[in-house]
Amino acid sequence: MDDPISFINASPTPFHAVREARAHLTSQGFQPLREEDAWTLQPGGRYLVTRNDTSLAAFTLPVHSAQPPPLLLAAAHTDSPALKVKPNPLKRKKDHLLLDLAVYGSAILATWFDRDLSLAGRIDYLDSAQRLTHQLIDLTEPVTRIPNLAIHLNRTANDDTKINPHEELSAPWLSIPCETGETDPARPFLERLEQEIARQDPHAMPIRILGWDLSLYDTQPATVAGVNRQWIVGARLDNLLSVTAILAALGRHDPTTPPGIAMAALFDHEEVGSLSMAGATSNFLASLLGRIYPDPVTLARAMPNSLLLSIDNAHGYHPNYPAKQDDNHTPQLNAGIVIKQHANQRYATSGATAARVKALALRAALPLQEFTVRADMACGSTVGPTVAAQLGIPTVDLGLPTWAMHSLRETAGTTDWDHLVRLLAVFFTNGHEGRR
Ligand code: ZN
Repeated sequence: MDDPISFINASPTPFHAVREARAHLTSQGFQPLREEDAWTLQPGGRYLVTRNDTSLAAFTLPVHSAQPPPLLLAAAHTDSPALKVKPNPLKRKKDHLLLDLAVYGSAILATWFDRDLSLAGRIDYLDSAQRLTHQLIDLTEPVTRIPNLAIHLNRTANDDTKINPHEELSAPWLSIPCETGETDPARPFLERLEQEIARQDPHAMPIRILGWDLSLYDTQPATVAGVNRQWIVGARLDNLLSVTAILAALGRHDPTTPPGIAMAALFDHEEVGSLSMAGATSNFLASLLGRIYPDPVTLARAMPNSLLLSIDNAHGYHPNYPAKQDDNHTPQLNAGIVIKQHANQRYATSGATAARVKALALRAALPLQEFTVRADMACGSTVGPTVAAQLGIPTVDLGLPTWAMHSLRETAGTTDWDHLVRLLAVFFTNGHEGRR
């Protein structure tokens, strides 16, 4: 993986992100495992395992190791704010059928208006043999949109306008100027999904769709922009920039060199608090480690010598809103990876763990920046504190400086991603150094 953009464009949902991650890792020799099977793990082996098709962990086992081997863990999340299709997908307003949508995570809602939106995710259905099966779909073309109201009908549109997500974020699917006679109000929606399943697999012939996890996404692809091509712009940079950097570094990692277990953990559901069967608060990671380390005591002995890099985007300094950031902690785009600290543990970084990362960055001659929120503002959070608390693993929260986080069109620096890949490469090899 040489750049993140093609991965982001192929990953409109966490399902697709995990599919892409799995494809990349298997091309690098990682062997897929299933949680329901018995495993025989070999020194020098490279493995991956998924849960719910939306979270993924991958790891390399050292050939030679101190006992117990330290865990060098890089974590990120596969999900992003989105608009998700509700179980009863269509609602009628006069002579329009509209997609009934739920807001997932803390989206900047105004950025979803007037975009060329498509639909992607997973469909579960009974096939012609009455088997319950599923398929990932991506309609790829713009199939709907959420139109703004003309300014002539809303003279306060440029004032501090509040958006009611229930009333204003429904996406027209079809106009029905005359009665169709259709008794199932979801039928026009289901027909389009059935067409897509049949297009992908002519033998599938779905006879009954029973469930879905589908999201709208913007069809405008992520790209490089700026007079010096200095920006990556697109949807889901938070947090697929981190996911792709981890995959790039782990894919190239040589298990014969380090004394530790190099591991990537990519979780779903961070944007809604991580509490799910596949999120960072689940037993996914603990269960995996229980199968890698021979017993709980060995695992416990390994943790103090281990390190977690929890990687999630950071707020880059925005020149139009200088008062929104602590002017002594203003990370700039393209000026280096950001270490995030918070006195009240919304980030898990300590002075000691920050020092370990700074030592790695010095070794690789990589720039770092520091972020902490203004003392009079609330702070965001991410998977770092959750995983740190679950495992008892020393942790650093860090990430790439980004503008407009949770917009449908975020911006980050092009050089920062390369720096993150290089930091992760030295982390997977030397991250155990400087342990306390
Ligand atoms: Zn994030």
